[in-house]
Amino acid sequence: MHDSITVDSKPAPTPNQSSSQQPHRAGPSTVSVHAGEARQKPNDAITDSICCSSTYTFDSTQSILDYIHEKQDREEYGRYGNPNEKVVERKLAALDGAEDAILYSSGMAAIVGLLMTKLNAGDEIVFFDECYHRSREFCFKHLSRFGVVTHQVKTGDFDAMNAAINDRTKMIVSESPTNPHLTVVDLEQFVALGKERGVETLIDATLASPFNIQPLEYGVDYVWHSATKYLGGHNDLLAGVISGSKEKLEPVRKLRGILGCINAPHNMYLLERGLKTFALRMQRHNENGQRVAEFLASHPRVEHVYYPGLPSHPTHAIAKRTMKGFGGLITFLVRDADWRQTGSIIDACRIPRIGPSLGGVESLIEQPMVMSYFDYAPEQRAKFGIADNMIRMSCGIEDADDLIADLEQALSQS
Ligand SMILES: *Cc1c(COP(=O)(O)O)cnc(C)c1O
Repeated sequence: MHDSITVDSKPAPTPNQSSSQQPHRAGPSTVSVHAGEARQKPNDAITDSICCSSTYTFDSTQSILDYIHEKQDREEYGRYGNPNEKVVERKLAALDGAEDAILYSSGMAAIVGLLMTKLNAGDEIVFFDECYHRSREFCFKHLSRFGVVTHQVKTGDFDAMNAAINDRTKMIVSESPTNPHLTVVDLEQFVALGKERGVETLIDATLASPFNIQPLEYGVDYVWHSATKYLGGHNDLLAGVISGSKEKLEPVRKLRGILGCINAPHNMYLLERGLKTFALRMQRHNENGQRVAEFLASHPRVEHVYYPGLPSHPTHAIAKRTMKGFGGLITFLVRDADWRQTGSIIDACRIPRIGPSLGGVESLIEQPMVMSYFDYAPEQRAKFGIADNMIRMSCGIEDADDLIADLEQALSQS
């Protein structure tokens, strides 16, 4: 009943599937609304019902044997997955243009699950240094205890990454765009390097989302998203996903069944519901991001704006070539402000709420120096490029005019 990642078993357009003559790939809105779901559902409901069950029963000993021998596609025990999670996995695979997608209980659980599967003692991994800090921390502090060696090189420096690869290297990792500097990485170059040196490639595409970038089309091996952000989109859940080929992901799924970091059916209902409006939300996030970034760039109290949609961004050309839009996240520096003055601008905002995270319908604002780096030494903060006068704003789906008016009044406070 649920065994395809197509939009529909009926004639409606399906991703990557040709109709009678010309191939037609459904757009992101159609995919986010329909993909992965059965057309006819239990009780004839249009929505997927929440299937709360920790175990799944067999009607006889023979049916267990059939399940084992015929590798039947059915549920067995909740740690291996549940019907609500499977629907969302198929939807996310379709959005990423992937054969398969594996959901986890958070973005971090997803990368831990992938790296625990793929890396052995003696293996090495190389990161671009603007990758999500907890993913690098997991490798440096924890995978090291199991004999895995981690290197990091400056983001976008392909010569340095090439030099850091040796015959023990198994994987190279980048985020794109990065947080908080919004550096976009050239995926063609990244994949070419991986292929040339015979190492697998992983992209954290959380900030782009599948709406703005399709890393698998470039030949990346694994795409990682924190579904907590744009995919969930409503600041009401945590989840993470890894997309890629069925073959490469099969052992990853097996280890997830041991680690047990799956999602409860209720959480998956929320994610499926959130995904229905994914493409619509992304359009608005992209529009708001661009407009607010342009406003900030023209404001006398703003020293600098980091936004890949602005020509002033060092990776604007790569972003324009590879991304459909540039997302809702903007980082900017306040002119001549110390950290307390910067904080008072945040405090003066009335619409964005103060907090970490990004990608939800509610705008969020924060000062990275206070929110994430307060107990770091100033030299360390400088090394990460975290300035005292830096503000990061995740534009939600509110009206851009309102966000701009709010920032205008906040920036005009003393
Ligand atoms: C939030 C985030 C993560 C981690 O995801 P969680 O769902 O919080 O575990 C990883 N990468 C990026 C870019 C993120 O923004």
